[in-house]
Amino acid sequence: MQIDQTSDGSYLVSTEGVNWTILADDTGVTLVDAGYPGDFSAVLDSMKQLGHGLDSLRAVLVTHAHVDHIGSIPQLLSAVSVPVYTSTEESRHARREYLQQATPLDVARNALLPGMLHWSAHIVAKGALRNVAVPTATGVPLNVPLDVPGNPVPFVLPGHTSGHTCFVVGDVVITGDALCTGHMLSRTTGPQVLPAFFDHDRAQHLSTLSMLATLDTTVMHPGHGPIYRGSLAEAVEKALIEL
Ligand SMILES: [Zn+2]
Repeated sequence: MQIDQTSDGSYLVSTEGVNWTILADDTGVTLVDAGYPGDFSAVLDSMKQLGHGLDSLRAVLVTHAHVDHIGSIPQLLSAVSVPVYTSTEESRHARREYLQQATPLDVARNALLPGMLHWSAHIVAKGALRNVAVPTATGVPLNVPLDVPGNPVPFVLPGHTSGHTCFVVGDVVITGDALCTGHMLSRTTGPQVLPAFFDHDRAQHLSTLSMLATLDTTVMHPGHGPIYRGSLAEAVEKALIEL
């Protein structure tokens, strides 16, 4: 696990499989995404390394309700009572009114991708086959600051999932899986989109990426891969060229 501070109170926590973000201010901590079910102790440890116990946690935000991003939320909620916020559409996904996630069959069809064997073993060990739902996930208004530590501003960038939500916090944009910089199934680092079988609607995902290009943020926290610093317009262009 690696923790990088990117601005006054914004930290990207990176693990081999997935990232999450911690936003901290004097009112407490907001966690954005929460890893796999097997990442529960790593989530706690990342908060602890920044000087925060679970009693500092004020809210959990969700970019999208795939098991690698909401996995430890049920365990967190059994220890502390905090709200879980995302877009209205993604809150339905988190409550498991429907599921838009790659199936074991999708994975089998892509078995020849380099790194697939190692990745599959990793995610199974992390609890990826467990059914995870967040019945209390709640939709929030978009494009206005949330009243949680860090005051992130949510906006929807649909395609990876129908309600995939990104968050702007000052100079930082938390992109989730809308735009990544690496993945256990990728041989490159730098701005990129994940393999197509992870997307619910690939065409929609690629067409909505242009929304990111309009941001004037200077730092990106991706759902997978290292921090990216620089122009988001250039990042989007690079990701689309590499396809
Ligand atoms: Zn992911």
